[in-house]
Amino acid sequence: MRMKTTFIHGGISHDEATGSVNVPIHQTTTYKQEKVGVHKGFEYSRTGNPTRLALEKLIADMEGGVRGFAFGSGAAGTHTIFSLFSKGDHIIVGDDVYGGTYRLINKILKRLGLTFTIVDTTDLSTIEEAIQDNTKAIFLETPTNPLLKVTDIQAVADIVKKHELITIVDNTFATPYNQRPLELGADIVLHSASKYLGGHSDVVAGLVTTNKDELADELGFLQNAIGGILGPQDSWIVQRGIKTLGIRMEAHEANAKTIVAFLQGHEKVDKIYYPGLPSHPGHETAKKQTSGFGGMISFELKEGLPAAVFVESLSLITLAESLGAVESLIEIPALMTHGAVSPEDREKAGIKDELIRLSVGIEDSEDLIDDLKQAFDQI
Ligand SMILES: *Cc1c(COP(=O)(O)O)cnc(C)c1O
Repeated sequence: MRMKTTFIHGGISHDEATGSVNVPIHQTTTYKQEKVGVHKGFEYSRTGNPTRLALEKLIADMEGGVRGFAFGSGAAGTHTIFSLFSKGDHIIVGDDVYGGTYRLINKILKRLGLTFTIVDTTDLSTIEEAIQDNTKAIFLETPTNPLLKVTDIQAVADIVKKHELITIVDNTFATPYNQRPLELGADIVLHSASKYLGGHSDVVAGLVTTNKDELADELGFLQNAIGGILGPQDSWIVQRGIKTLGIRMEAHEANAKTIVAFLQGHEKVDKIYYPGLPSHPGHETAKKQTSGFGGMISFELKEGLPAAVFVESLSLITLAESLGAVESLIEIPALMTHGAVSPEDREKAGIKDELIRLSVGIEDSEDLIDDLKQAFDQI
């Protein structure tokens, strides 16, 4: 099955019992046993639920995993993955990962005795240098948020395999339509399904998959033991969102390219970050490991221009955090998603006050450009 077909017919896509073309929402906690211990594969819905299982099998099919896991949020999925490790273990983490992942590491996981080294995963030599005797894994995101830095997944996986470490990739920004980390050598893939997979700003969810049986067993144990599962209604909504992922990603990217072309010619724009631009430092790697450049754009206004006035002047493009939805969403990282990062660390990371992040939706691109034009006129 090709990708767009998998999104619709992968996993468990219908109901054998009734012929229903959609998976039923099994709103149940428990399952009748014919005899003690004799059941149809389900005992209690934290452990397993047929609607959630349909979504879990779907994400495994989409990413090339052996088993999938659905969580109540991307953060819950991240926490469950880190629960694979024990006190004293060391993990290498990309320097541009999701802010909530940093919070989890710095405020909770360090307190529990895990240790971390933060590196720029686009620079392969820094990874090699960071490996210690107690290093167990590398956790990275590509492309990153908000600067869309691109890491060569295959090159990282090749390095860390020599040291028997596992590679964990947060694939939220690229989606499996454009990038499949397990095929490139990664061991575990994570998604905030609240973004492109759900795709409609209407559900918070996390998905995890792996192509290693042993890791799948451990993750399954942890999912049940920790209990941060996704409910049946939300499992159904995510599955419904995924059906259109292929055409949505194509539409996001087509609009993103049109907007990048518009921004490139604009006198009030200083810099554009988009992996599809040949001038982007990660362009060649993105070309090699992804089948598309996605719908996320970041750009800097000319120094001193008021980013807040610009985003507040937009009428169609919505000022909001989050991303990956049918509607275009815009934000100022320095003041919003990355507001908790200190000004010095932002400066180091290259996140300027004039930086704007745009999650391009699938509206008519001419309407989006008209809206951007009138907002530029206000600054
Ligand atoms: C949003 C996001 C997360 C966290 O997911 P939630 O569903 O909000 O818990 C993790 N990684 C990335 C890249 C994200 O964008």
